[in-house]
Amino acid sequence: MKKVFILLVLSVIAGNCCVSQERADSLLPVRGFCITSPRADGLDKFIEFIKSELVPRKVNTLILRVDYNYRYESHPELRDSGALTKSDIRKLVRVCRENKIGIIPQVNLLGHQSWASRMGNLLRVYPQFDETPKVKLPEKYVWPNPDKLYCKSYCPLHPDVHAIVFDLVDEICRVFESDAFHAGMDEVFYIGEDQCPRCSGKDKAELFAGEVTLIRNHLADKGIKLWIWGDRLIDGKTTGIGEWEGSFNNTHRAIDMIPKDVMICDWHYERPDQTAVYFAMKGFDVVTCPWRDPENAVAQAADMVRFRASSTPEMKNRFRGVVQTVWSGAGQFLDSYYGTKEDPGENTPVKCFRAMYDEIERLSFK
Ligand SMILES: [Zn+2]
Repeated sequence: MKKVFILLVLSVIAGNCCVSQERADSLLPVRGFCITSPRADGLDKFIEFIKSELVPRKVNTLILRVDYNYRYESHPELRDSGALTKSDIRKLVRVCRENKIGIIPQVNLLGHQSWASRMGNLLRVYPQFDETPKVKLPEKYVWPNPDKLYCKSYCPLHPDVHAIVFDLVDEICRVFESDAFHAGMDEVFYIGEDQCPRCSGKDKAELFAGEVTLIRNHLADKGIKLWIWGDRLIDGKTTGIGEWEGSFNNTHRAIDMIPKDVMICDWHYERPDQTAVYFAMKGFDVVTCPWRDPENAVAQAADMVRFRASSTPEMKNRFRGVVQTVWSGAGQFLDSYYGTKEDPGENTPVKCFRAMYDEIERLSFK
């Protein structure tokens, strides 16, 4: 009798210790993690993190924000110093492939061309692409500021900008052997500015949609899918969502002007806003992205599962899943993850990541 009982317990444990791939994929087809690409000296530690933490949680999508942390051969002038080599990237690609993780490189296009007082490599080397050349980066950055400077943008109508950025996009997709590319395109505050001789007076929604469509078409020719952040497509005023997670500069009408096969990464960090439904109803595939609030992330994962269960067959599969976003460097995140540096507070990306994936596991057994 005792033996039977032990066997029963063992079989329950064995059954519960791992969720089947089919069950995980049907619950949430995309189970993602997004972070800055590691520096070369932190690569091995990051690969270990993939194997020991992402794989057991059945993470199947890794968005790596590479930007200029790669030794581009097409444009060596744009490389960061100490950037990753081709063989570094191959190590990452290999470990992801062995574990069935799709790896998606990101290079910020259009917006996020500067950060605080630091110019990004593209506008530092090619200042002629700057949408707001009259706005000088301050020595000490503060928000808010009279220039309404958050990040610089490049001018989407500059005749020479795409030849260069598409070289980078093509090269990074090649080296990552990727069938998807993330162009960022969030928080574009400078667009259609009066001081730009090409964009002045133009409809900002049309300018934004034009840039998304151009990038999408460039990638589609090569069978690569475009992913972007969703905030510029949400009306921040009418919804009350605000000028960060939504748009205050009239770009939101672009939602009806861009191709429907663009994947939307719908990030919400303050509240678990249910705008994934809006994107799905407009015909887009969408993933919801939390950051550091574990309670919100748990709600967001549960919402996504509920949307998939309660939608029409037409809508169901547009709710693709969730992506944990991390905005610190990979090294800093790992220090916090492994407790080598203190990371106090309830709301941290590490706690959020753990809580959300625990919730996904719990939902898998329901
Ligand atoms: Zn312009």
